[in-house]
Amino acid sequence: MVNGTNSSLLLIVLVVFISNLFMHHSALSQDYNRLREKMVEEQLINRGIISKPVLNAMRKVERHRFVPSELMREAYNDYPLPIGEGQTISQPYIVAFMTEALVLKPTDRVLEIGTGSGYQAAILAEICTEVYSIEIEEVLGQRADNLLNELGYKNIQVRIGDGYLGWPERAPFDAIIVTCSPSKIPQPLQDQLREGGRMIIPVGDTYTQELILVKKEKGKLSKQYRLPVMFVPMRSNSGKRY
Ligand code: SAH
Repeated sequence: MVNGTNSSLLLIVLVVFISNLFMHHSALSQDYNRLREKMVEEQLINRGIISKPVLNAMRKVERHRFVPSELMREAYNDYPLPIGEGQTISQPYIVAFMTEALVLKPTDRVLEIGTGSGYQAAILAEICTEVYSIEIEEVLGQRADNLLNELGYKNIQVRIGDGYLGWPERAPFDAIIVTCSPSKIPQPLQDQLREGGRMIIPVGDTYTQELILVKKEKGKLSKQYRLPVMFVPMRSNSGKRY
């Protein structure tokens, strides 16, 4: 009898412990859902982002999965965060602004230069059929690729390499998004843009740049200056800034 009482007590303690664990977990993910919704309202909608596909993608993708665990609580705040190797994940507003500027269609094939955490690639993959992303830093590219696979994205291909050169085997692209900054628009990327295609790219010097929206029409490029920004530099394999 004593044994029976002990084991039912043990069972109760165990059940309470396990259900606490689950409650804790679901409370956390509810917190993140709330923070993400707040981010969309306050940082995106209030600042003029109106594209439904962009807003829905930003509502859906769990940004906290893409930042180092000690920074998860800050994932939905209004600033960029370090992701290791001296690189950063862009501020949510900048991700939304750049994605909206590309006016993506579901059938578009998109090239991203600077995979970083993989967050921007995930946002693109929620909107478009095919996403190609190039990262020069092997550790980051590998980590992003693993995470994107774990999250079930089948329409993203990550490649380790120098994005200055683009991805000629997969060109032309309907849209190109560059998330590291060169001092001028790389010729290979211009060449790999499809007729009617759009590219958004931060161009300038090391500390101040301008986001430029490039469009290719009748073989000619038009440029619109959109927003002052600060991105990490686009580097070659030898570490030199482009
Ligand atoms: N889009 C990313 C943020 C990118 S930070 C995200 O959503 O998290 C910029 C990234 O560009 C860095 O990871 C950096 O290593 C990478 N990078 C710099 N020069 C590059 C180059 N020539 N080719 C490809 N990636 C480059």
